[in-house]
Amino acid sequence: MPDTYGFDTLQIHAGARPDPATGARQTPIYQTTAYVFRDADHAAALFNLQEVGYIYSRLTNPTVAVLQERIATLEGGVGAVCCSSGHAAQIMALFPLMSPGKNVVVSTRLYGGTVTQMTQTIKRFGWSARFVDFDDLDAIRGAVDDDTRAIFCESIANPGGYITDLDAVGDLARDVGLPLIVDNTSATPYLCNPIKHGATLVVHSTTKFLTGNGTVTGGAVVDSGQFDWSASGKFPSLSEPEPAYHGLKFNETFGPLAFTFHGIAIGLRDLGMTMNPQAAHYTLMGIETLSLRMERHVANAMKIARWLEQDDRVDYVTYAGLDSSPYSARVPAICPKGAGSLFTFAVKGGYDACIRLIDALDLFSHVANLGDTRSLIIHSASTTHRQLDENQQRAAGADPEVVRLSIGIEDADDLIADLDQALTKATAAPA
Ligand SMILES: *Cc1c(COP(=O)(O)O)cnc(C)c1O
Repeated sequence: MPDTYGFDTLQIHAGARPDPATGARQTPIYQTTAYVFRDADHAAALFNLQEVGYIYSRLTNPTVAVLQERIATLEGGVGAVCCSSGHAAQIMALFPLMSPGKNVVVSTRLYGGTVTQMTQTIKRFGWSARFVDFDDLDAIRGAVDDDTRAIFCESIANPGGYITDLDAVGDLARDVGLPLIVDNTSATPYLCNPIKHGATLVVHSTTKFLTGNGTVTGGAVVDSGQFDWSASGKFPSLSEPEPAYHGLKFNETFGPLAFTFHGIAIGLRDLGMTMNPQAAHYTLMGIETLSLRMERHVANAMKIARWLEQDDRVDYVTYAGLDSSPYSARVPAICPKGAGSLFTFAVKGGYDACIRLIDALDLFSHVANLGDTRSLIIHSASTTHRQLDENQQRAAGADPEVVRLSIGIEDADDLIADLDQALTKATAAPA
């Protein structure tokens, strides 16, 4: 696909071509587990990674391959590996870099499930995460030591409307010789391209805006192809002989595609966090309209955030699209087309008023999800961020007195009317 094509063209065409067998214009759902080898030599060459092709759908599938190429193209990467969920993608991103005793330096402002994954679950692998405030570059630098193997943050951090200064963090990562992994779920490649700001890897929960309609879970790891895995000796999985492939060295053999090939040939093969072709199909359908949806998501979020901010029943609104946000100055550089559609606001009356508000809404759905065509609301502190203590909740932007909105693409006026009636009920003096 010529890289002169614009985003709207690439979101429809990148990775896809008419089906060679039938001419089918839409990407078929290759609902198959295995693929017939031409002969015994062909099978052996595939298993030796001497030839690229289809063996078994835990590793590769033609429908999933189209999605991988499309997401890689939209992010400006050289390759991508799709996974069964966003959390799977995060493990798949760290897996080739880490080993027991190694650590990753991560932002305090992360999706709640990611905080739990990083504080608790990765310990079982002998890995650890060091949480720091990513506005404090000296703190990031101070947390990096000889055992650090990656730096991890979100572009637009859910739930608090925080925007990471990716240029500064990207420069720092380059300076200390470590890969920067950016979770770009909330922004999507339409609003932000972390690779342009220095990210080595981009991870996604495709469950959210990329699919866009709340139907399937999925994830992706995109590789920029720009990191030299051999330079420091810190990434032996990618630079040293791999015993499971007769001593093949991924970096030497696959060059800029080393990380992607490792993700398939080792990661998916042995961890098995594979995306299924049905899920890939739904996500491909979603991505075709990504730019149109994101424009409406952003326009609606802006209108609703402004309306809430001037309302007396609301204490504050955290949307980075508002001039009142301390992060609004980062919008032009990091996400020039808008600050996404997730933000929190504090209802006067605190925790109890938040709960009353959620129960009084008609059009907004109370769900633990985001990035749907439908508008969604949740009280993060008692749900997605429930496993965190109050300090961690506040650091992540999930303060107990705020609710998190994921603004959909309905009529903004209908959403405002719904919030208006619910705020009245939530803040009415008790009878
Ligand atoms: C949802 C989400 C995840 C986890 O993705 P799943 O698909 O639910 O596993 C990770 N990061 C962010 C920012 C998310 O919104």
